This record gives sequence, structure tokens and C-alpha cells, in this order.
Amino acid sequence: MFSKILIANRGEIACRIIDSCHRMGVATVAVFSDADRAARHVAMADEAVHIGGPAPADSYLQAERIIAAAKSTGAEAIHPGYGFLSENPDFVDAVEAAGLVFIGPSARAIRAMGLKDAAKALMEEAGVPVVPGYHGSNQDPDYLAGQAESIGYPVLIKAVAGGGGKGMRRVDDPGDFGEALISAQSEARNAFGNPDVLIEKYVLQPRHIEVQVFGDGHRAVHLFERDCSLQRRHQKVIEEAPAPGMTAEMRKTMGAAAVRAAEAIGYKGAGTIEFIVDGANGLRPDGFWFMEMNTRLQVEHPVTEAITGVDLVEWQLRVASGEALPARQEDLQIRGHAFEARLYAEDVPAGFLPATGRLAHLSFPQGARIETGVREGDTISPWYDPMIAKVVTYGPTRAVALRALETALVDTEVAGSVTNLDFLIALARHPGFRAGEVDTGLIGRDLDALVAAAEPDPRTRVLAVIGLAGLADPSVKGGMTLWQPLRRTVAWEGGEAVVEVLGPGAARVTLDGHAHEVRWQGDRWWVDDALRRNRIVSHEAGVSVFGGRTVHLKPLDPLARDSAGAGGDALTLSPMPGLVKSVHVAAGQEVKAGDRLAVLEAMKMEHSLTAARDGVVAEVLAQAGDQVEAGAALIRLEEEEE
Ligand code: ADP
Ligand code: ADP
Ligand code: MG
Repeated sequence: MFSKILIANRGEIACRIIDSCHRMGVATVAVFSDADRAARHVAMADEAVHIGGPAPADSYLQAERIIAAAKSTGAEAIHPGYGFLSENPDFVDAVEAAGLVFIGPSARAIRAMGLKDAAKALMEEAGVPVVPGYHGSNQDPDYLAGQAESIGYPVLIKAVAGGGGKGMRRVDDPGDFGEALISAQSEARNAFGNPDVLIEKYVLQPRHIEVQVFGDGHRAVHLFERDCSLQRRHQKVIEEAPAPGMTAEMRKTMGAAAVRAAEAIGYKGAGTIEFIVDGANGLRPDGFWFMEMNTRLQVEHPVTEAITGVDLVEWQLRVASGEALPARQEDLQIRGHAFEARLYAEDVPAGFLPATGRLAHLSFPQGARIETGVREGDTISPWYDPMIAKVVTYGPTRAVALRALETALVDTEVAGSVTNLDFLIALARHPGFRAGEVDTGLIGRDLDALVAAAEPDPRTRVLAVIGLAGLADPSVKGGMTLWQPLRRTVAWEGGEAVVEVLGPGAARVTLDGHAHEVRWQGDRWWVDDALRRNRIVSHEAGVSVFGGRTVHLKPLDPLARDSAGAGGDALTLSPMPGLVKSVHVAAGQEVKAGDRLAVLEAMKMEHSLTAARDGVVAEVLAQAGDQVEAGAALIRLEEEEE
């Protein structure tokens, strides 16, 4: 076994790898950018080396600096985590040329699976079913349109170099093919420097079921499947293992296909074979097709660990250090069921816009496995994936594990940034999901209801007002202090309410023209006679209410109000660093509140930036193709007439 390894990553995955190293007595070296000096992964590691500026290109993608850091600290091996350099075969070559061990597959195996078209051809040869379609090299638009015709609509155009759901277009109507092809190619060229596409049959009612494999370079085993069908825009939101409705026969067939795939490329280490499954008529052993292989540890690997009892990072280290495969296929078994929810700093009602902020309050429940790279007081910066944590639960049955997920999410507390917590809770309560009727379209079909369920409701806001009024303070609770005026106005950014203390443990809150009666006893709250098990928490950024529906109120800062009054809504600022994809207005043009002004691409997604109010465009300060920083002014509206 290695005595010291370097982790070429950050955030939750760096911390998770360090956890296993600690348990195994392997010393750890972290690397960090300027933005991560005080990050959790740096604090957890035995040593840490600074590798550059906050942009990934200046630090976590700086292969040479990372290898130099490993050499100078005496690390024998490098664990790449996921993302960043993890699937970069040139990095593997460089690590090995430096006399170090890459904890992962060979450069050759990564190259074999790097492009979806070549991977599909290889898998076909190995006897693994692939999605019907065209994955040849002819990129002539008329030829591709002809292929789409013969595959039969609907079809999916995919970037061969794709990842993270990019460069993909579903086409239902032959008349739309030409335009969809052009936009998929241009997205692929921008994102991956490779415009080539393949065409696939679009599987109706698709389910994403993937198989965890593990190889020693010759032989491989599988650790069963994960269902990742709960997706938003082709990105995973909640994952589970095993897959609901899976039969023993299909599991065996899929597992064998995945092992064939891994062995065909002499795979070493942890990998994932992603299959698309036709969920229209239940799961059938002839109804799954290879989509792609991810040649690394997968974000959702903990659900597999939960049901198999295997520590996949420990296995990675053992096999990389020369040990044989730690288990035979017949030693591996599924016990129980597990879920993982990805908790992100993002603004759900604003279209899942990535958010940032200092985590003024952060508390996770017992009873769930929490994988996180942040602590209370840490900042979610605009530079990296805005993931706050993965919440993983386990139970003897799917129903128990899902209840545990719902409870764990309800008991999670994050303040200082908006999050997708309430959206995840709404999903965990979704009747179709509960029934195991998952497919990749579930979230999209019910998006409006799921988002609405994640919006703050009036009664939770009333409790936040009680918090702001100081009535939830333990020293005040159940009674009132003499200095509390009986009736007063409480104001916060975005609103105000009148609070009247009626007596011990009772108040009336008038909010948005409605009077609500609030009573409390210990940590129980009644709003309009409905019992609420909410938690009211005060912190440096204001007051938050947690427990199913989250509300944050920030006390009014008189200075902030003044500056907003001075034309704050005239400027549309870039909410994060990104690439301006398109600008939709010109100087002199009239716009209405909510109109799309520009589209920004950041964090794997496109974000529409909309007008804050009606007005006339005074100035367009950015153009398509510009790389902009967070806070950069993009569009200015003319000042409003007084
Ligand atoms: P998974 O199937 O495990 O969700 P993804 O391919 O969606 O894997 O991405 C895994 C991680 O890799 C993401 O969480 C992100 O950090 C990083 N990543 C993948 N693709 C991109 C991309 N195009 N741009 C930025 N980060 C990416
Ligand atoms: P990426 O590299 O971006 O992860 P994938 O090929 O893994 O791309 O596909 C991402 C997602 O797109 C899948 O999880 C699935 O939801 C959807 N998808 C991919 N191929 C098909 C298909 N042929 N039919 C229907 N949906 C598909
Ligand atoms: Mg994929």
C-alpha cells in the first residue's frame, strides 16, 4: 500500500478520498487554488500545496504543477477524483512519466472510451448492446439527415466528445433536424473543441441505469446497478441503488455486459458503464443499450457502497498499489436500498441559477451519510461546481431508505445561500418517484409543481418574521421580555410585517395584508392553528426557518436600500463568471420586465438573464463570445423618469 498520495481535486470528493486514506493510514497531500486556501479538503489533509489562481485552468487543471507537488512532497500516487483531470489520458501519461502511479485506468483505456462514437463501435465488437443509431465518421448534414430518417424519429443528436449533458438535441420532426444539428455542433465545438456528432434512436420513456464495474487490468467484477433517471436537463439530481423494478435476470444480463465492456479494454480501477433502458413496458433483458463509459469514480458511487458494504476508494488504492481484485463476483451481494440527493447552492425559482455565498449556518442531520467539502462559515465561490453536499441514506427497503432521505433533507439546514433543498424534498415526496415509476422525463413533466412546492409559503414566512422580531430566541420563548414593544413593524430586505405580542407564547403577524395567529411552546409552533415543526435559526446573515420549506429573511440594511434606490435595477450584472452566449437586445430597444436580455453559459448550463423592470436599453456592454467575471455589467437600462 502507498504511504502517501496526492489528491488532485477539491470539494466533497477530495474530502471523501481523504476519509478513506485516514482510515487506511495513508498520508494525504491536498492541492489548492487561491480560492480554496481555507477549504475543508486543505484542513483535512496532512499536507497541502498551493497550485495557482482560482480559475480551474490556473490550478486544478495545471497537470505539471500538480505532478511537481506530488514529487516535492514525496507522494507516490495521484488520485484524480472526478471532473478536472480525471479523464484526461495525457495527464495519466505525464503522471506515469514522472514515476508516479495514477489511481485509475490506463491512458489507453481512457482514450478507448473518450469519444462516444469510438466507444460504441468498440462495445458493439465486444458484444455489448449499443443504442441503435449512426456513429460513423461521415458528418455531412444531408447524410446525417438520411441516417436519422432510417433510424426513425424521434432521434437524439449527441456530441461524440460530449459530457455533462452538453451538445445533445432531441429531434421529433424531420423538418427540425437541420437546425438542431447546427446548434448541437456549435455547442460541441465550443465546449469540447470537436463538433462531431452521432445520431441515436431516442428511447421513449428512458431510464438511466448504470453499472459500477471494477477491474484489475485483466479481469473485472460489477457491483450492481444504480438508477439515475431522476434528471433535470440530462443532469442527475437523485440517484438510487438498486434500480426499482430490476429483475434478477436483467441484472445478471446487464452486469455481464458491463464486465465484458470493462474487460474488452483491460480496465483497471473503478468505472461506470451507463446504459439507457426502455422503461415503457417494465424492465426486459433485451431492453438496455450502452450509452457511454465514465472512466473514473462517479459522483453517485456512495449508493453502491451503501448496498454492497464496499469502500470503493479503498479498492481503488489497493488495486492501484498492485493488489489483486479485493472480491470475486460471487462474494458481492446487495443488501438494502440507498439514495443520494445532490444538494446545490442554486436558485430554483430563478431557473436553477447557480448561487454563491458564505454559509452563515450549516447543519446536517445524524442518520445520513453526508459527503461535503464545506463547513459553516465557508464560501460557495463562483469558480467551481456549487455542490454543498451529497445526502446519502440507507434502509432495508426502498420505502424505508426514501423516508430516511426525506427526513434527512427536512433536517438539513443551510443559510447564507439559497439552495435546492426544498426542491429535493418535493422530489422525495413525489408520488410517482415514491412508487418507483422513474424515467428521465419525470422532473421535466412535473417541474412547475415541484418548483412551486419549493417556493416559500406564507406560514413559513410568518415564522421567519417571529424570528426577526426576536421572539424565537430561547430566552424569550414561551414568554416575553419587558422591553418587547407590544406592537411594532419588522422590516427586512424585500418586505415588512406588523408583529403584535398577544401574551406569553402568542403573537399576531400581519404580512401581505393577512393577519396570522402564532402560538408556540418549546420547539413547537402553530400558525393559524396548524402545527409546524419548523426550526427558527438566527445567524449573521439574518434569520432562517427550516423544516420542509425554507425561508431566509435578511434584516434591512438602510444603506443597501439607498443604493438600490439609486438605479440598482438599471444594470443587469453577470451573476457568475461565464461566457456570453448571445445578446438579445440592442441600444434604444424597449423591454418589459422579465424579457430575456442575454444568455450566459456557466457551470455546464445556459442561463437567461432577464430585465428587472420595464425600460429602454441604454447600452449593451457585452457581446456574444465575451468571457465575463461575476458582477460584470452586461446591459444598462435608461434611468427611470422621476
Ligand atoms: P456524473 O455522471 O457522475 O454526474 P458528470 O459527467 O455529469 O458525471 O460530471 C461529473 C462531475 O464532473 C461534475 O459534477 C462536474 O464537477 C464535472 N464536470 C463534468 N463535465 C463538466 C463540464 N462540461 N464542465 C464542468 N464540469 C464538468
Ligand atoms: P453525457 O456524456 O452528457 O453524460 P450521456 O450519453 O451519458 O451523455 O447521456 C446523458 C443523458 O441523456 C442520459 O442520462 C439520458 O437521460 C439521456 N439520453 C442519452 N441517450 C439517450 C437516448 N438514446 N434516448 C433517450 N435519452 C437519452
Ligand atoms: Mg453520461
